[in-house]
Amino acid sequence: MKELPIELKRMLDALGAKENVPMAQYTSFKTGGSVRILAEPDTAEHTAELMRLIEAAGVEHYVIGNGTNLLISDKGLDAIVVRIGEKMANVERSGRTIIAGAGASYAAMAKQSVQRGLMGLEWAAGIPGTVGGAVAMNAGAYGGETADTLKTVTYAENGAIIKETVDKTAFGYRLSPYCAPERIVIEAEFELNDDDGSAYEKMTDYNKRRREKQPINYPSAGSVFKRPEGHFAGALIEQAGLKGTRIGGAEISTLHAGFIINAGGATSRNVYELIRLVQQKVKEHSGVQLETEVKLLGEF
Ligand SMILES: Cc1cc2nc3c(=O)[nH]c(=O)nc-3n(C[C@H](O)[C@H](O)[C@H](O)COP(=O)(O)OP(=O)(O)OC[C@H]3O[C@@H](n4cnc5c(N)ncnc54)[C@H](O)[C@@H]3O)c2cc1C
Repeated sequence: MKELPIELKRMLDALGAKENVPMAQYTSFKTGGSVRILAEPDTAEHTAELMRLIEAAGVEHYVIGNGTNLLISDKGLDAIVVRIGEKMANVERSGRTIIAGAGASYAAMAKQSVQRGLMGLEWAAGIPGTVGGAVAMNAGAYGGETADTLKTVTYAENGAIIKETVDKTAFGYRLSPYCAPERIVIEAEFELNDDDGSAYEKMTDYNKRRREKQPINYPSAGSVFKRPEGHFAGALIEQAGLKGTRIGGAEISTLHAGFIINAGGATSRNVYELIRLVQQKVKEHSGVQLETEVKLLGEF
């Protein structure tokens, strides 16, 4: 990494940024090399200023939340990683509105909304990422998606803090206008409905289904592949005879073939090679090209 400008160095120091941090502890796959600098801003203003300085310096950078949809190279990242986590996790409620810091746990926020008699996020109680990650990815499950109840998003771009009413038409399947390297989500406002009496039951049912059908006791990043039009990735992988296939410590889950798990001692390279193998075999078997939902950071 090139020499950082003094202003950026001072900002990183003020934020208590750490150097040479192993990313396995910050990702749900529990794999990956070290990142050169990890900074965790604590306010909207600091986030905007940090991003402005990083961009002005032209330094390679990444934004992460809880790392539950990431595969980070074993070679690490010679970059600044900006993590929006516990330091920006304030959640406020007023009537049917919830305003959450981007670093708040999406699942905890969803559960609390149900406990408070609200409806609209009961499907999200098993998603292990942050609110910022859910907005950026337009996370979804069981027929719901983040954009459904999202009202405003506050984000930083070019050093400015911008709050805007979301344009729902700009969201798609695991796609949002906020998953751009120059934008960083700071806060999100959700407008929910009053519970019609079924929210708790639905949430409990969805979580039960997850426990039964997903290998949640192993490190993973959830579904590795996007759902291809007219198919289910897990079914295609199973039909190609790949369930249980292993490369090193990475394994195609025998419980849900759409998941790759770290069955013990896996490297990111193991996971990457398994991803490529799945793509090749599924293409040969069914003609469908699977695309990754998981974001690959760094060199593989
Ligand atoms: C067991 C398990 C089950 C899962 N089930 C589901 C599911 O049902 N549905 C689903 O959609 N996903 C699921 N996931 C995947 C993952 O939890 C979601 O994609 C989640 O929204 C990612 O949030 P995160 O904070 O971990 O983001 P990260 O993994 O850290 O980052 C993901 C992407 O979001 C961007 N990002 C993160 N924070 C911000 C921010 N503040 N501003 C701008 N960009 C940001 C990153 O740059 C990156 O591109 C599952 C994962 C696991 C491990």
